[in-house]
Amino acid sequence: MSVITGISASQGVAIGKVFLKKEEQVRVPIYTLAEAEIPKEIARLKEGLDKTAQALQNLHDKAKADVGEDEARIFDVHRMLLLDDEFVEHIETTIQNERVNAEEAVAVTEEVFANMFANMEDAYLRERAADIKDISKRLILNLLGQEEKSVAGIDYEAIIVAKDLYPSDTIQINKNFVKGLITLEGGKMSHTAILARTMQLPAVVGVGEAGDEIQEGDILILDAKKGEIIINPSEAEIEEFKKKQAEFEAYQQELLKYIGTESVTSDGQHIEICANIGRPSDVPAVLENDAEGVGLFRSEFLYMDSPEMPTEEEQYQAYKIAVEGLGGKRVIIRTLDVGGDKEIPYLNIPKEENPFLGYRAVRVCLEMKDLFKTQLRALLRSSVHGKLAIMIPMIISVDEVRRSKELIAECKAELLAEGVAVSDDIEVGIMIETPAAVMVADLLAKEVDFFSVGTNDLTQYILAADRMNPKIADLYDTCNPAVLRAIKKVADDAHEAGIWIGICGESGADTRLTGFFAAIGIDELSVSPSSVLEVRKTVQSINAAEQKANLHQNWNI
Ligand code: PEP
Ligand code: MG
Repeated sequence: MSVITGISASQGVAIGKVFLKKEEQVRVPIYTLAEAEIPKEIARLKEGLDKTAQALQNLHDKAKADVGEDEARIFDVHRMLLLDDEFVEHIETTIQNERVNAEEAVAVTEEVFANMFANMEDAYLRERAADIKDISKRLILNLLGQEEKSVAGIDYEAIIVAKDLYPSDTIQINKNFVKGLITLEGGKMSHTAILARTMQLPAVVGVGEAGDEIQEGDILILDAKKGEIIINPSEAEIEEFKKKQAEFEAYQQELLKYIGTESVTSDGQHIEICANIGRPSDVPAVLENDAEGVGLFRSEFLYMDSPEMPTEEEQYQAYKIAVEGLGGKRVIIRTLDVGGDKEIPYLNIPKEENPFLGYRAVRVCLEMKDLFKTQLRALLRSSVHGKLAIMIPMIISVDEVRRSKELIAECKAELLAEGVAVSDDIEVGIMIETPAAVMVADLLAKEVDFFSVGTNDLTQYILAADRMNPKIADLYDTCNPAVLRAIKKVADDAHEAGIWIGICGESGADTRLTGFFAAIGIDELSVSPSSVLEVRKTVQSINAAEQKANLHQNWNI
């Protein structure tokens, strides 16, 4: 056995046999055809195309039923590319002119089209090269009568090991069989990590090269909280795992007791506990875990899951599901937070030296006004279906807040003039995640209805420690007194101005900090759905007055 470590992406422990999702190399056979065999080969190609198109249609339908239209759209795009006239014609001509078998003709065509896309000016079209490779691989496997190694086919207790997982993989995961996830790439905020938390699946990400040690057929024990993976464990380690698993399950069971109970400290201070989501399909997990609302809906996932800009109507439908689904509880939807590690190819944002210090979030939105207004209109339209709040990310100045609010007012006026109803009761807040926002929090507080502290970014900016860089992960310390003092200042400024303040970064779920948050009077904690009950349990166990009295001693504040 050996032990490797990575970044903890969720909780829980798991044991299972490895399902290695490698970037598979397909072996393409090459043979020459006699003239007379060509029509038969073209008929075989047509059959392969039909089958592949049908498989993509099935994947689309399954994804739509399981997670929604937005996530399913990628399969539609793939089907369109597969059946594109020029693509199909190129394959047929290659079979005819070169007299080669269909698989080889597809491989030749793949190279031509992938190169063509890869060399395009437009960043969105460049990304299509990967799609051409994807559909060509599917088609070749189909022609060969081979099944693609898809996570949907897993029928044993497995731990998926992959370089990274794509939305098209993750939506096929069947939790009856898939017990855990390991990715070589990615960080705590990667797609896979967020999905694992929402699905409540044990996951370790960012394992790096150490993951190459894992072989097909290995048995793995995954301790997600510790970020530890044991390869081919001994009997004693399996026994140890079973104990931990039983403890974890008993703990999960115990947490169910907290459903329907109040989130108040032992001395009566209420701290609202809400959930973070990325997609409308996360709403059931919010309700099952009895969250008091949605404290952060990362709207950028709608944009990242889509091959092109989601329209106003598409966004409206997505926001409506969340706002309506929460049945009157507040849903805070954050406006587009593109940039940093979140890339959206079709926005054509050029690569930057320092993307986290660059063209990001509200900076993009205030410049790309049409894009911003499309989102704001969709948000405002959704407001009549429940209790919507709008939150602007990456604010550094009062000016940005005012300009954002002006655009919100402009969109509202336009909608009302068009006869479209908009609620009169929409809170507008900002994320506090830059040192600048901390320093001018007293001024910002006069402009908005609430603050929500983005501790993921705030920590990296205060400590000058990249949140994605494993080499300095020890410096990226969310409990560092510099970070905590910043949060306390912001909380004091918020309360002084009479507005409420929440935490929506990962620190909100860190139960080491719950006492600190209670002591400084944080009003709301927004955490992944699977952490809601644990945080509520911790809140109930805390005496806020005691925590306040010991603030300096405990936290060096
Ligand atoms: C944060 O920065 O803490 C936050 C919640 O936003 P994100 O992680 O999406 O940058
Ligand atoms: Mg952030």
